[in-house]
Amino acid sequence: MPKKNESLNLDNTENAFAYKTNKELIASKWLFTLMQVGFLVKLGAKILPLMIKIGLPIKKLIKKTLFKQFVGGETLQKTTSVCEKLDHHQVQVILDYGVEGGEYNDEKYEEATDEFIKVINYASKSKNIPFISIKITGLVSFSLLERLNITIGNKETKTIFSDFATMIEMLPEKDKYDWNNLMHRINRICTKAAASNIGVMIDAEESWIQDPIDFVTKCMMEQYNKSTIVVFNTIQLYRIDRLSFLKLSYEDSVNKNYLLGVKLVRGAYMEKESKRAKKLGYNNPIQPNKIETDRDYNEAISYCIERIQHISIIVASHNEESSLKAANMIFDLTGITKHHHLHFSQLYGMSDNLTFNLANAGYNTSKYLPFGPVEEVIPYLMRRAQENSSLSGQTGREIKLIKLECTRRGL
Ligand SMILES: Cc1cc2nc3c(=O)[nH]c(=O)nc-3n(C[C@H](O)[C@H](O)[C@H](O)COP(=O)(O)OP(=O)(O)OC[C@H]3O[C@@H](n4cnc5c(N)ncnc54)[C@H](O)[C@@H]3O)c2cc1C
Repeated sequence: MPKKNESLNLDNTENAFAYKTNKELIASKWLFTLMQVGFLVKLGAKILPLMIKIGLPIKKLIKKTLFKQFVGGETLQKTTSVCEKLDHHQVQVILDYGVEGGEYNDEKYEEATDEFIKVINYASKSKNIPFISIKITGLVSFSLLERLNITIGNKETKTIFSDFATMIEMLPEKDKYDWNNLMHRINRICTKAAASNIGVMIDAEESWIQDPIDFVTKCMMEQYNKSTIVVFNTIQLYRIDRLSFLKLSYEDSVNKNYLLGVKLVRGAYMEKESKRAKKLGYNNPIQPNKIETDRDYNEAISYCIERIQHISIIVASHNEESSLKAANMIFDLTGITKHHHLHFSQLYGMSDNLTFNLANAGYNTSKYLPFGPVEEVIPYLMRRAQENSSLSGQTGREIKLIKLECTRRGL
């Protein structure tokens, strides 16, 4: 058991919501209350994207509610006031240009690459934006990643990285062309990030496209993570095989002499994963229960912190137990809170008690802040609404803390 950092109190609601006015706090209370009506969220997730698509006038309503709670703004410039507000409370920002998953053409992927480069430029001029986040599905077609994943799928995890390199050589010409374009785009982004001293976090996505994403990320880490850590992969510990993948990634980084960057998450696509596995009749890649996800997540924290000189970790979680574990462990091991290889992050609009209290106790802490036009961030908003529609666990705690702060303020 690590020694406790007594100065850390995650229950302090005054700190947690100091950045919200009374009006904003009340608006959050209503929104979280509404999101707990399960059937509304389910219905919304189905019909909202459709309503936007056919041009029904609901954008204004979304902008005032879900968008305001979870998104920084429609454009990069519009995120400025949120970033400044967070900076005022020693909270940093992971900027996320909310483009994701689709079948676009090369022109659109090039536009996205340019946009990511603009985001890096913007971040490098700001005081409190040390990272940006990207999704590989914003840079190449989902179907190419899916095809690559199938080809590699039967191979042993142990040899996945080397198999991939050989396999790329054997792709049909068009796929090889698309793959090379992807590598060119991601290289442009990482070169710019390295020169600007900004970290790039590559999101983890669905398991049926994740192997090629891991391979691209590993190639970038090998190239850019030499003396400092520029590139971070994301490990979803709700997957049965990811703790061993983390260990494999560490071994690869030691053998090939590069530093390892990892963002540890539990994972956001659980229902989709289970449904697909059932439909297609393969073993569900997700842990059989939450206890096992939590066990692997916490083991991953220990594994990384024990190797903190070589691994830089982002504890990307709203789970109090995991956050406390990492916070106490680093304090016990090094006697400091602000270790340059340990960073905490929560999504903007969620778990303010963790973010602001960790920051207040001196830990490197950030909000993951997406921005983009309303239509483009709808899938992200739907995931947040679904995540917050359960009264159990940490999400029930969210509304409880907001209510406590309302009472403290006499609202
Ligand atoms: C900064 C940041 C970046 C993120 N980036 C990504 C990303 O790149 N890719 C991604 O997929 N997600 C990402 N996420 C989302 C993240 O995966 C979810 O927020 C997270 O799953 C919620 O878990 P938690 O750690 O906050 O804690 P908790 O609320 O304690 O855990 C909830 C999670 O536990 C898991 N779980 C729940 N029930 C079960 C069950 N019965 N069996 C097995 N597992 C179960 C699920 O993953 C569920 O989401 C990110 C989150 C943050 C904060």
